[in-house]
Amino acid sequence: QSIPDHDYPTVLDQIRTEIQPLLGQGRVASYIPELAKVRGDQFGMAVVTLNGQVSACGDARVPFSIQSVSKLFALTLAYQCVGDALWQRVGREPSGNPFNSLVQLESEQGKPRNPFINAGALVVTDVLCTRFVNPETALVEFVRRLSGNATLQYDDRVARSEMATAERNRAMGHFMRSFGNLHNPVDEVIAAYCRHCAIRMDAVDLARAVAFLAHGGVNPWNGERVVSASTAKRLSALMLTCGTYDAAGDFAFRVGIPAKSGVGGGIVGHIPGQLGVCVWSPELEPSGNSLAGSYALERFTTLTGQSLF
Ligand code: GLU
Repeated sequence: QSIPDHDYPTVLDQIRTEIQPLLGQGRVASYIPELAKVRGDQFGMAVVTLNGQVSACGDARVPFSIQSVSKLFALTLAYQCVGDALWQRVGREPSGNPFNSLVQLESEQGKPRNPFINAGALVVTDVLCTRFVNPETALVEFVRRLSGNATLQYDDRVARSEMATAERNRAMGHFMRSFGNLHNPVDEVIAAYCRHCAIRMDAVDLARAVAFLAHGGVNPWNGERVVSASTAKRLSALMLTCGTYDAAGDFAFRVGIPAKSGVGGGIVGHIPGQLGVCVWSPELEPSGNSLAGSYALERFTTLTGQSLF
């Protein structure tokens, strides 16, 4: 049955009960050693409406590694820096391949398919490396402003753990640099990228941080314009088509909102004009999206009747 009038606390309680059988069915990401240490059976979800009402359940206040969710914030910041010139270096098409795939880079002359696969995020990070002396601080500060939480940081242990195992990302970096599509030294770009991925946030912070997209590009917490309404639309469209790895089609089919996921088990999304939402549960399905998290969002849009469609 559906729950009337968006009683979010009741919706979240129901979802939390419904996802319980899924805990234990997915796998925590293990290719970054520090991520493998996270307890898999955690689940938290937060909804923040544009008037600031926060509803949360479960482990919504437990900080986690945002991983590829950082690609959304890095893209927004890079877009602020260079605008549409970005699209000369990164495409806007779903890749249909795993997030760390190299295969399309050769036929496409070192231009990644979209900014949400690793290759695309490396180009975005390269833009930030050119623009900022300290690109990791720039992104952390940007996300602090978006979320309203001035204490956010990246986890140096996770960043180092990824840097020690980032051979494939390095390979991508060198490959793109050989085509002239990476302007800074590969090691610098990789270091900034790994630190961006290692930012720690909880579900409430993330639901707040994505709300500017639901609010036409204006940060609802301080009134600052982050991007134009048109850019907010475009970033959201990219989330819908490319934000959830090579399962983006299935995710749009099931959930029907713009979203970005990360291998730490977080998924952020929003409903334009309404709310920001974040769910976290570390066990992933094979594409890399949180298993319980995807289901939770599917139930959320179904129970509330709120989605893009
Ligand atoms: N830091 C991870 C990597 O580059 C991010 C992956 C992800 O969350 O999709 O492999």
